[in-house]
Amino acid sequence: MKAIQMVDTKTQYLKIKEQVDAGIHQVLDTAAYINGKAVHEFSKNLSAYLNVKHTIPCANGTDALQIAMMALDLQPGDEVITPSFTYIATTEVIALLRLTPVFVEVDKATFCIDPKAIEKAITSKTKAIVPVHLYGQAANMEEIMAIAKAHNLYVIEDNAQAIGCDYTFSDGSAKKTGAIGTIGATSFYPSKNLGAFGDGGAIFTNDDSLAEKLKMIANHGQKERYYHDVVGCNSRLDSIQAAILDVKLKYLDEYITARQKAAVFYDKAFAGNERIITPQTAAFTNHVYHQYTLQLSGADRDELNKYLAEQKIPSMIYYPVPAHRQKMFAAFGGGDYELPVTDWLTGTVISLPIHTELDEEQLQYIAGHVLHFINGK
Ligand SMILES: *Cc1c(COP(=O)(O)O)cnc(C)c1O
Repeated sequence: MKAIQMVDTKTQYLKIKEQVDAGIHQVLDTAAYINGKAVHEFSKNLSAYLNVKHTIPCANGTDALQIAMMALDLQPGDEVITPSFTYIATTEVIALLRLTPVFVEVDKATFCIDPKAIEKAITSKTKAIVPVHLYGQAANMEEIMAIAKAHNLYVIEDNAQAIGCDYTFSDGSAKKTGAIGTIGATSFYPSKNLGAFGDGGAIFTNDDSLAEKLKMIANHGQKERYYHDVVGCNSRLDSIQAAILDVKLKYLDEYITARQKAAVFYDKAFAGNERIITPQTAAFTNHVYHQYTLQLSGADRDELNKYLAEQKIPSMIYYPVPAHRQKMFAAFGGGDYELPVTDWLTGTVISLPIHTELDEEQLQYIAGHVLHFINGK
């Protein structure tokens, strides 16, 4: 059996090596390393894929979130509602910009922000909501957009884990996540569903004037070279990364299907087990399985993590400490929050290997060892 990895980008690369290498060499041949043709082509193709008007490429997903918030002219002290159960980048950029993160609960079944918790957290200072499409399924965007409209709030979708995910509204219409809110942000970190061979990110919007502003901010606040209208930053997607991503974008749907197949295997293997809660998908979204994350009930998650490592099966705890319990947020009253669902999840979740290259033998081996540990208790 091939060694099991949390993600296997090497095998994935080898299957499209010729195309990827050709893309890289084209950049080298033209020496257009910065803002080359590949960057424009990829941005155009990604806009078409997501059915969004503007894609603004940038250096990474954290920058994408930061630039999105900078473009909305939020003022120090303005409150931004975000889940506590997420990767640190989501919440960190809020504090970095001297805005106030307000941490709310997620739904226990789907791991995504709970719209009822958003409503309860709204004050006169609230300016924006940052839903995270965690692990690869959409947050309840219809309710979130309705709340935002009623209270005149911006919505920034953190789509770093869910690129390609389809959201279906109650009228039957569908949109890709990242193209629903005021602004969407994503990451092309190598392990993400659409991963570069280095860092990368992008920002999405359907609003023309916001797009102009996002572009300016990502480029030192300039529209015309050496004329700087606003304070911005330097955040670019490399041409080489764009060339690689443009090839991989063609395979994204295939990659998603492969992830979904692995998830179906796990679902079947763990069905009916009292101690294993398999991931649930809400009716309004599909799941692109950036992660396949179990909750354990009556079994020790850390012990399973250790046992699997002994069997040469990697597993990960996303995330062991929620944002509201991180030291960096002590000044925002992080410790005063009561978020029992979030605390439960940080103590019970474990993510199994899921990627495009897992074969049946590996899946059988992983599921077999999980069940052996769980049933042996
Ligand atoms: C990966 C990730 C980010 C940050 O992306 P980087 O490219 O690593 O900066 C932000 N939010 C979430 C939910 C992520 O998973």
